[in-house]
Amino acid sequence: NRDLRTPVIAGNWKMNNDRTAAKALLSDLAPLVKDAACTVITCVPFTDLETALAATAGTDIKVGAQNCHFEKSGAYTGEVSADMLAEMGVEYVVLGHSERRQYFGETDVTVNLRTKAALAAGLKPIVCVGEHLEDREQGVTAELVALQTKIALLDVTAEQLQNVIIAYEPVWAIGTGKTATAEQAGEVCGVIRATVASLYGKEAADKLVVQYGGSMNAGNADELLAQPDVDGGLIGGASLKADAFAQIVAAA
Ligand code: PGA
Repeated sequence: NRDLRTPVIAGNWKMNNDRTAAKALLSDLAPLVKDAACTVITCVPFTDLETALAATAGTDIKVGAQNCHFEKSGAYTGEVSADMLAEMGVEYVVLGHSERRQYFGETDVTVNLRTKAALAAGLKPIVCVGEHLEDREQGVTAELVALQTKIALLDVTAEQLQNVIIAYEPVWAIGTGKTATAEQAGEVCGVIRATVASLYGKEAADKLVVQYGGSMNAGNADELLAQPDVDGGLIGGASLKADAFAQIVAAA
């Protein structure tokens, strides 16, 4: 039942935009997404968080980070904890993005640890799952994504689940210009919801926001978001331009 969910459009800037660019982009974006019908989030590099929080104060844009560590503190050179983000006033955090899994050795198990750490700190995690092209070609997409979802949510309570967003991001569609068809996106987002229903019950699953991500843009957003199980998008490239991102927000 879609009425139970408010769509969420989240920008993932990745390693783009220094503080000057961040400030400019957010000040361009704020008036364009004022009173949006969906939740609007920008997930920015750590060094932009302070700037983004200041630039979005009093606007309809919420701020997220792009990762956090699972330990609370300690000898983890170069890492940032969930508590550190929460203390700044950051509300969301992207976890388990395929680029983190591919280049920085993250696994389903560490994504689960990060998810629990983020929730314990009061952050709202956007947990990314998705198959590689070979998985899709071998016909194991549904099983694989269901398993990623289950492992990410191990020991997450039903109450905590209310603060979780899951993003379905087929790896072959990220930054490639190749979008999943609306049917493919809708089907796998439906698998994620069914998996969550099997773990937490239908009512909890009906409230879960499941986003699609992977080359989503102003041209294809309408069709993707029309799928009953697609409740929003995680937007990389198209989140770097205020007008393109605002058009996707308007579509949601
Ligand atoms: P893209 O990235 O929109 O540039 O494909 C999506 C993502 O990585 O979240």
